[in-house]
Amino acid sequence: MINKNEIMDIIIIGAGASGLMVASQLNKNKKFIILDINDKIGSKIEISGGGKCNITNQSIEASDYIGNPYFINDILREFDQYQLLEWLEKNNLTPNIRESGQYFCKNSSKEIINIFKKNIDIKNIILNCKVENIRKREDVFYVECGKKSYRAKSLVVASGGLSFPILGATDIGFKIATSFEHTINALSPALVGLTLQKEQFFFKELSGISTKVTIRVEDKILNGSILFAHKGISGIVILDTSLFWTKGEIEIDFLPDFDIEPHQNSKKLVSNLLPIPKSLSKAFLKHLKIQDSPMNKLSKENIYQLLRLKSYKFPPAGNFGYSKAEVTKGGVSTDEINSKTMMSKKVDNLYFIGEVLDITGKIGGYNFQWAFSSAFVCANNLKKDV
Ligand SMILES: Cc1cc2nc3c(=O)[nH]c(=O)nc-3n(C[C@H](O)[C@H](O)[C@H](O)COP(=O)(O)OP(=O)(O)OC[C@H]3O[C@@H](n4cnc5c(N)ncnc54)[C@H](O)[C@@H]3O)c2cc1C
Repeated sequence: MINKNEIMDIIIIGAGASGLMVASQLNKNKKFIILDINDKIGSKIEISGGGKCNITNQSIEASDYIGNPYFINDILREFDQYQLLEWLEKNNLTPNIRESGQYFCKNSSKEIINIFKKNIDIKNIILNCKVENIRKREDVFYVECGKKSYRAKSLVVASGGLSFPILGATDIGFKIATSFEHTINALSPALVGLTLQKEQFFFKELSGISTKVTIRVEDKILNGSILFAHKGISGIVILDTSLFWTKGEIEIDFLPDFDIEPHQNSKKLVSNLLPIPKSLSKAFLKHLKIQDSPMNKLSKENIYQLLRLKSYKFPPAGNFGYSKAEVTKGGVSTDEINSKTMMSKKVDNLYFIGEVLDITGKIGGYNFQWAFSSAFVCANNLKKDV
């Protein structure tokens, strides 16, 4: 049993990916507790990757993230995807690798949650505990959850971002950071579908259709499938687009493997010629005010309009919001965090790890790798005597 009056060595806020990894790495002689608002650990891990958790990726570079690349490299150097895979292997989990280089649990995300259950003494986990306030007095952190208060010499903020409030997300990490005068870089939902302006409302009629595209957003070129949805556009390539898009236009090539010019003399109907779903080509023809006629009957002006499919530019209206976003972009500025320890440069023994920081990865296992790598660096420092 946890003695409430005892001063712990460490309190970890959040039993998600990063908090669980820190806890699993701590020496047995450390007195620590891990607090979570939910009634179970690893809620996001459980539903991630379609229930199989995309743990990491074969290829991981700082450019797969938004955030300070020097900071990211410092952390990944200490615990990269190979070390993560080795650690999983030691715990009897050999993930499956898919063609895209993504690693997933074999059968269920529970395989990884069970590793944490095995490595963390259950008596150190306090569930149904919503952290509402933190104070620091004379080198001791006071953590308040409702009427209960816990004390510790070190505090690890592993409380994640604002996405998926249904799974326990709160703004506590940002509140704590602000109360200790840390800078929070602008927060927004990311890895999320995009909403449309009136001009593109015709996309909504294509709900359920998917096609391969290339997207140019800011200085990035992204390839993958777009999915037309009732609320706007989604699919993996759009989720990644949402990471890099802030405002203004994006450019979509709806015919990434097809050139129109060599087919100008074709007698095929345009909607039959274009290698995209027929309903999509018909919707575009209507949008561009082109009759669906044989290709060789199109006027120069029509061909010019049709070429817009290769570089269709439009400004999305916004995104589907935190309830649908896989992650939160922005967060606690890494300028004020020591990349060797994950400790705050402003407050001794205060640590920030995982998604609460201003580092966000693409779809593909990059965010769990970040959560685990930053946790590993933090744990290495905590293992030393405080
Ligand atoms: C639907 C979905 C699918 C995803 N799939 C993948 C994937 O396949 N691969 C990938 O790399 N990433 C994926 N992600 C992103 C990934 O889940 C997160 O980036 C990662 O979990 C972040 O880890 P974390 O420890 O920082 O935060 P979290 O895992 O979110 O953990 C934070 C914990 O803090 C707790 N908490 C919050 N506020 C409080 C409070 N006030 N008091 C007490 N506890 C609190 C929360 O309940 C939560 O358990 C997915 C996300 C979602 C939403």
